[in-house]
Amino acid sequence: MQRTIIVTGGAGFIGSNFVHYILAQDSELKVVVFDKLTYAGNLPNIADALKGGRCVHVKADIADPLAVKKVFEEERPFAIVNFAAETHVDRSIDGPKEFIESNYMGVFVLLERARAYCGSLDEGARKAFRFLQVSTDEVYGSLGGNDLFRENTPYAPNSPYSASKAGADFLLRAYFHTYALPGIITNCSNNYGPYQFPEKLIPLVTLNALEARDLPIYGDGGNIRDWLHVGDHCAGIWLALEKGRPGEKYNIGGNNERSNMQVVSRICGELELLRPAKDNPAMKARGVDFYSDLIIFVKDRPGHDRRYAIDASKIRKELGWKPTFDFESGITQTISWYVENLDWCKKIQEGKYERERLGVAQ
Ligand code: NAD
Repeated sequence: MQRTIIVTGGAGFIGSNFVHYILAQDSELKVVVFDKLTYAGNLPNIADALKGGRCVHVKADIADPLAVKKVFEEERPFAIVNFAAETHVDRSIDGPKEFIESNYMGVFVLLERARAYCGSLDEGARKAFRFLQVSTDEVYGSLGGNDLFRENTPYAPNSPYSASKAGADFLLRAYFHTYALPGIITNCSNNYGPYQFPEKLIPLVTLNALEARDLPIYGDGGNIRDWLHVGDHCAGIWLALEKGRPGEKYNIGGNNERSNMQVVSRICGELELLRPAKDNPAMKARGVDFYSDLIIFVKDRPGHDRRYAIDASKIRKELGWKPTFDFESGITQTISWYVENLDWCKKIQEGKYERERLGVAQ
């Protein structure tokens, strides 16, 4: 029997990777991508899926109760996975309102509809229903020393983005305890891979380098993130949906701590192999010999968390998840993908974003 799943934010970076992943996992699945297509949402990311006949797109806002009601009533899903969010910390510093509207109020609207929908189901279908909220490790705040974020680490968000995501996690928790809504939260570390909007570190630095533009590093470049390939994140979410226990949280991360400086240096090194600076006309025109010579240090992001690192032992032990990409080969493959997909990079930014500095408002 065909099962239908709603994937909100399925035209963005992780959501679109997830759509491809689950269509390959389950040949009977119908996927409804519910996405309002902000600057970060891009239908060509899921063009093949849309052509395949088992995936449809609904252009609407998760904070619109009527649109959400309509999709639940028409599609009768067995699950909803919520990726829809404003996601760039720098933009949340410049303008927090949209983050509260989508990331918090939007989740409230989805939860209210899921609650009403569950009330309309028979007991078996109600028990089987799942609401999976895709959250972030940023809700835990900043780490010092060698500590790791665990599922019971207290929330301490430091940016409007992470605060809006933390609020949504608390709402989901409350709907589980108060209304027995079968919700699950996954908290993942920084993702890398194909289809990421070029405002984020890895595609931004790759594209700037190829165009011989400055490679801006915030502060001293020592901020550490725990990188995970998007494919491993998608596999973790799918496992949590299929096998996870309602009311639980699962941290997902790959034990790949790297400072921003290390990541940027790695990109420069990789580009020297793929598109040597000495043969790049833009680099010649600027009179710069190596991509690494483009690195500049800029004023730090306000409230910039120093270090994130995930303890993923719960999802490993309970659900048997383990990452399949190692960082070194994953980053090589990712940088190649951007180099080979410059048209995609150009189109997705056109008229929306020029890789200018964001998030300096105080
Ligand atoms: P993204 O910015 O690439 O995509 C977000 C998608 O959501 C876009 O397609 C956008 O159009 C859509 N969207 C935004 N607001 C919406 C609304 N109100 N209604 C309907 N659609 C809306 O984001 P991403 O990097 O793919 O992140 C997806 C989710 O994963 C987010 O919830 C984010 O908090 C979480 N997450 C991201 C990372 C990461 O490293 N990127 C890590 C952990 C968790």
